[in-house]
Amino acid sequence: MSRLRQHPESHLVARIGWLRAAVLGANDGIVSTASLIVGVAAAAAARNDVLIAGVAGLVAGAMSMAAGEYVSVSSQSDTEKADLSRERTELRANPEFELDELAEIYAKRGVEPTLARQVAAQLMAKDALTAHAHDELGISEITTARPVQAALTSAATFSAGAAMPLLMVVLSPATMLVPIVSAASLAFLALLGAIGAKAGGASVLRATVRVSFWGALAMALTAGIGRLFGAVV
Ligand SMILES: [Zn+2]
Repeated sequence: MSRLRQHPESHLVARIGWLRAAVLGANDGIVSTASLIVGVAAAAAARNDVLIAGVAGLVAGAMSMAAGEYVSVSSQSDTEKADLSRERTELRANPEFELDELAEIYAKRGVEPTLARQVAAQLMAKDALTAHAHDELGISEITTARPVQAALTSAATFSAGAAMPLLMVVLSPATMLVPIVSAASLAFLALLGAIGAKAGGASVLRATVRVSFWGALAMALTAGIGRLFGAVV
C-alpha cells in the first residue's frame, strides 16, 4: 500500500459543497418565512391570513431560489464551456506556445525551469486539455454542471426550511403565535447551524451564534415593521 493511501485524515472540503448548499437553502427558508409570518402576525392579522402569507412566501422563495440557482449554474457552465473550447482551439493551433505557457505556470509556482518543461510536456502528452483546464483556467474537473438539478435542490431545501415556521403557525395557539414561531425558528436555525458546522469540522458554537443572530435580527425587523403598519393601517 502506498503512503498516500494510508493518509488517515478525511478531508472535509469535498463534503462541504452540497451540504453547504442544503444548509443555506434551509436557512433561507426558515429566516424568510419566519420573518414574513412574524411581520404579518405582528400587524394583528388572523391566523388564516398569516398562513396564506406564509405559504405564498414559501412558494415565492422556492421559485426565486430555483431561478437564481438555475441562472447561476447555467452561466457558470457556459463560461467554462467557452473557456474550454477556446483552449482546445489554441492547443490545436499553437501547441508549442501552449507548452511554454504551461511550463511557465509551473516555473512560477517554484518548479525548476527544465523540470517544469518536462512536467508540462508529459501532462500534455497524456491529456493536454485537462492539464491546461486545471492549471491555467482553474477548472479542476471537466464536469457537466446540472442547472436543473441545482434548481430543484435549492427549491426543495428552501421549502423544507420554510415548512418549519409554517408548521408552528398551525400548531401554536393564536395568542402565542409570534413568540412560538420566533423561538422555534431560532431553535431550528441553531440546530441547522450546529449540524452544518459539525459536518464541516468547524466551530459549532460560532456557527450557532452567527446564524441565530441573523435570524433574530430578521424577525425583530419584520415584527417592528408589522407592528408599525398594523397600527397605522
Ligand atoms: Zn493553455
